[in-house]
Amino acid sequence: MCRGFHDECGIVGVYNHPEASNIVYLGLYALQHRGQESAGIVSSDGKRLYSHKDMGLVADIFTGEILKRLPGRSAIGHVRYSTSGESHIRNAQPFVVDYARGSIAIAHNGNLVNARILRDELEAYGSIFQSDMDTEVIMHLIASSRDATLTGRLIHALTRVRGAYSLVIITDSCLIATRDPHGFRPLVLGRLRDGWVVASETCAFDLIEAEYVRQIDAGELLIIDERGLTSHKPFQKATYSPCIFEFIYFARPDSNVFGANVHTVRKNLGRELAREHPVRADVVIPVPDSGVGAAIGYAEEAGIPFDMGLVRNHYIGRTFIEPQDSIRDFGVKIKLNPVRDVIDGKRVVVVDDSIVRGTTSRKIIKMIRNAGAKEVHLRISSPPTIAPCFYGIDTPTRDELIASKKSVEEINRFLTTDTLAYLSLEGLYRAVRQAGTSFCDACFTGRYPVEIPQERGQPQLILFK
Ligand code: AMP
Repeated sequence: MCRGFHDECGIVGVYNHPEASNIVYLGLYALQHRGQESAGIVSSDGKRLYSHKDMGLVADIFTGEILKRLPGRSAIGHVRYSTSGESHIRNAQPFVVDYARGSIAIAHNGNLVNARILRDELEAYGSIFQSDMDTEVIMHLIASSRDATLTGRLIHALTRVRGAYSLVIITDSCLIATRDPHGFRPLVLGRLRDGWVVASETCAFDLIEAEYVRQIDAGELLIIDERGLTSHKPFQKATYSPCIFEFIYFARPDSNVFGANVHTVRKNLGRELAREHPVRADVVIPVPDSGVGAAIGYAEEAGIPFDMGLVRNHYIGRTFIEPQDSIRDFGVKIKLNPVRDVIDGKRVVVVDDSIVRGTTSRKIIKMIRNAGAKEVHLRISSPPTIAPCFYGIDTPTRDELIASKKSVEEINRFLTTDTLAYLSLEGLYRAVRQAGTSFCDACFTGRYPVEIPQERGQPQLILFK
């Protein structure tokens, strides 16, 4: 984002369905894990666009009444998550504008790394920005293009931007889906009766009973209109670099992303972890929810019983009122609670997907010890996170990433675990089992597939709470 903050987002688009906005609503419901801060839907009845966006969860924002005010056979939707403090309705998507050639709306998952530079340039030529969103840069580039066709204007705009974008775009006559040449973020195409649907993850298709067709290719610009599908590949080819962290943490386990099932990959991660870092123990417990798949794999491979030693409360929103007489570690306690019966007197292996700052993990370990664990062995189903993501996963600055400063032994001491071990990069690739596919693993290696022109060296805002 322009101000240096990042989004995690989910996007959906539907073309030619009598209940397009309703279907998009359900798709967003399935993608709620990709963003809980705001949600929006823009529909088209072939003449004009209709929009509704608000802060909060999909189910709270959209009522039957509101969906009725979003008519037409096509619609797009967006869920957004950002912890930057720029939590404002003006940054909610889809982003809609009326310009000289009509109305257009865009829903974006990803992060453009040269947005600041382009924005400065556009502002110098008189553009006035309404939001902090990098997506608005795309909009201005489209509007300022002299090309006669929308496809031409889009190609003009997208040729100038660098970084991660999966987009769904709607006008009064068509739906467009596109993915950046590196293919950082997922985007899939499905068939829905006589219409089409695109979504960040396949779990959205399952709910709306759409049939999976294929991924939108990296660097593909797919136009869906009354003539059917027209696929363009106008951009310079780049190394395919889908985000490996989608498998580790971000995507829903019942989804297929980048051609593989997320839960299966997570179980493989756990198996690899058990082979690389075995330990004598009585029980394997996950940090729910993201650690569940890897913990099952670890337990199966190690032959140690799996159990739910921590229970997550799924009903907490973004804020909660703390009692005045403050409770120690309230933020963690309100989300997770140990099951003493599972833990008491046991040697416990705790499996989690990643350690970011280490602050939550430390509190979780304390919680498990207080529940009577005799030994606590933490196993992480990914390598140490040493570098921030600039392509659409919310991470703090490099300095705040515990593994960028401390060795595994130092982190072990900080967390007060008996032992701590991370999966190796080789183990991670073995688990993903996609021979020949290169992934973006910059968060573990610091090797960025797209150079970060403006952010490198500059402090980011506090992102991660
Ligand atoms: P901490 O110990 O404070 O570093 O927090 C670690 C926890 O953060 C793990 O349970 C991860 O599942 C979770 N986590 C990892 N990446 C993210 C992210 N981008 N957004 C929110 N939580 C995350």
